Amino acid sequence: MQGKKQEITIQAILDLVKTYYPDQDSLDLISKAFKYANEKHKDQFRKSGEPYIVHLLNVAYILADLKLGPKAIAAGLLHDVIEDCGVSREEMVKEFDEEITTLVESVTKIGNIEFKDEKEYMAVNHRKIFIAMAKDIRVILIKLVDRLHNMRTLQFMSEIKQKKIAAETLDVYAPIAHRLGISEIKNELEDLSFYYLYPDKYYEIAHLVEIRKAERDRQVLTMIKDITELLTKNGLKFRIFGRSKHLYSIYKKMTTKNKRFDEILDLHAIRIVTSDDVSCYEVLGYIHAKYRPIPGRLKDYIAMPKMNMYQSLHTTIVGEEGSIYEVQIRTEEMDAIAEKGVAAHWRYKEGNKYNQERAQKEIEERLSWFKDFGALTQESKDADEYMDILTHDVFEANVYVMSPKGRVIDLPNGATPLDFAYRIHTEIGHSTVGAIVNNVLVPLNTPLKTGDVVSIRTSKQSNGPSEDWLKIVKTAHAKSKIRNFLQKKEMDDRSDTIEKGEHLFREECKRREIDDKELIGSKRLESVFQHFAINNINDFYYAIAVKSLAMPAIFEKLNIQQKKGILDSFSLERMFKSNQSKKTFSKSGIRVSGVDSMMISLAGCCTPVPGDSIVGFITKGQGVKVHRTDCVNIKNETKRLINVEWDEERKEGKYEVKLYILAQDRSFLISDIVTIINQCKAGLVAVNSTVNEDKITASTYLNVVVTDSEHLQTVIANLKKIDNVFEVHRAQS
Ligand code: MN
Repeated sequence: MQGKKQEITIQAILDLVKTYYPDQDSLDLISKAFKYANEKHKDQFRKSGEPYIVHLLNVAYILADLKLGPKAIAAGLLHDVIEDCGVSREEMVKEFDEEITTLVESVTKIGNIEFKDEKEYMAVNHRKIFIAMAKDIRVILIKLVDRLHNMRTLQFMSEIKQKKIAAETLDVYAPIAHRLGISEIKNELEDLSFYYLYPDKYYEIAHLVEIRKAERDRQVLTMIKDITELLTKNGLKFRIFGRSKHLYSIYKKMTTKNKRFDEILDLHAIRIVTSDDVSCYEVLGYIHAKYRPIPGRLKDYIAMPKMNMYQSLHTTIVGEEGSIYEVQIRTEEMDAIAEKGVAAHWRYKEGNKYNQERAQKEIEERLSWFKDFGALTQESKDADEYMDILTHDVFEANVYVMSPKGRVIDLPNGATPLDFAYRIHTEIGHSTVGAIVNNVLVPLNTPLKTGDVVSIRTSKQSNGPSEDWLKIVKTAHAKSKIRNFLQKKEMDDRSDTIEKGEHLFREECKRREIDDKELIGSKRLESVFQHFAINNINDFYYAIAVKSLAMPAIFEKLNIQQKKGILDSFSLERMFKSNQSKKTFSKSGIRVSGVDSMMISLAGCCTPVPGDSIVGFITKGQGVKVHRTDCVNIKNETKRLINVEWDEERKEGKYEVKLYILAQDRSFLISDIVTIINQCKAGLVAVNSTVNEDKITASTYLNVVVTDSEHLQTVIANLKKIDNVFEVHRAQS
């Protein structure tokens, strides 16, 4: 494959723009941008030896072919002046305007993102890219077209660079083009990447296609002739032509669907373009009346457009010789949108009246994954989860379901009715109690399929989301809404618990014939708080409700004798019992000798785990804080230390520990660390990694959850085995 060599002149661009933006101002702006770029780049040449301006003219021409507006085309001409000619923002704003300058700046910024390989660049840099892009769809289009022309001229690069750029194009740019519905550019990017990445396969398939071409052409032409006769006879107006599949799509079908070359190529493809929607269905009717359709292959993307705005009727029929034909039927407008994507869409919607803001808004609405990305960056901490969401939301976002009223909702593959519910409205999501898909009641975790009609049953009595829902939903949007809900609920639950504790305490006072009003707020009660290391009345009630503080102990401390005959409503079991709150009470799994009830918590600075040598530190008002004996924070303490020991009976506790890792900065470092943590069956709460001043090493802080010190040692030992890791130890904060 040779890069398409085209002599593009500024006049050619102006002539093209004139067909849809005839006003002189638009044309003047483009001319001015050309002159400016030509002057700035005048001493620069591309690897091909051509003057640099050739690249810019090509980019601008393709943008004009996509029917973009004059500012976007000007920005296309100027897209390298900041980067390559050192033009300042101020100068550009003065010479052009804020809008064009911002476009060029954003394109430059995206271009400067250093793509590394696979997982790392996907997780880290895709995010940046998409967010940068989400601001203005034109930035994506310029960057795509820039990449397209660079791919067309890739033969001048070294082989290593060719492969790297081709891989990036295939992984990043082609999917974006697909997402925007610009199949023309997507197909070309894919075939060019394919050519550079797998030249052997490319030539093999190209050769196979070539030798079958004559026979295929004959069959397709015969079919076209027959259909033309059929439709003309019935008075329809249309265009009809055969299409050839692009090579990469054949390769992909062979590898991913495991089909033989014959099977793929036996499928002939024909497209019929009509003037209006109704004619599409008429055409379909006549074709189905004459040729046998293959069941299950009829797709009505006119009534139910794909998310990238693609519309068409698809059917597969059997021809007279037994060959199989895929037939696409669509209007001229649909055809333009299928080839040129969003750009064509706004041309058709707005005609010649350029209403950028409105068009932009509508496009963003359709491409709603932009919004999900916003939610994602704030929330997702776990790299694997992020990758998961990314893959689902962006690169496989191709399930299209409908509300009973026919509203089409796009969802990632594997999405469930819950994702659907949250997409419709957060409150609907929260109060979902059931889902009806195609008139059948289904479990909430049922994966949805394209074409499903989904309605959600809600109830005001619903308990709302639970932790389990997080496992059911696939969209970042639903995940974040559920998390918010659970967080809020946890807070509400605490106040309920406090209320319950208060009730229990007052009841107990009544039983013991004590005036609770007098007691609350009294010095006596204060001293009880101090003894149990309780901060305030709310914590007191909470402790009662969760039974980490037993009633008899309270009253014993209050020096109020229990009247005979009154049975204790609380058993005299140990003070330390399980409770829900983190790291307080007995969850620490620690016994304090000689003290039967007290609030104990683990120090956050040295985060001891069972097996560590520990010591208790009596704080003022916060009970006993348990430190490791070697913790620097208690080094100089003597008076307020007490002996504590791990409770051997409470083995299955979970302890959060902070670790420090020093490693050589490299691709996949974080991913390797996360893998080891998972393999060791430890929990991962937080990861924070920064590249050090030396630009060679990276410091990573991990909050991991382990069961005891033995477990922790296993984790540390395994982390040390990771390539390029120099040092692993517990961190002190
Ligand atoms: Mn460029």
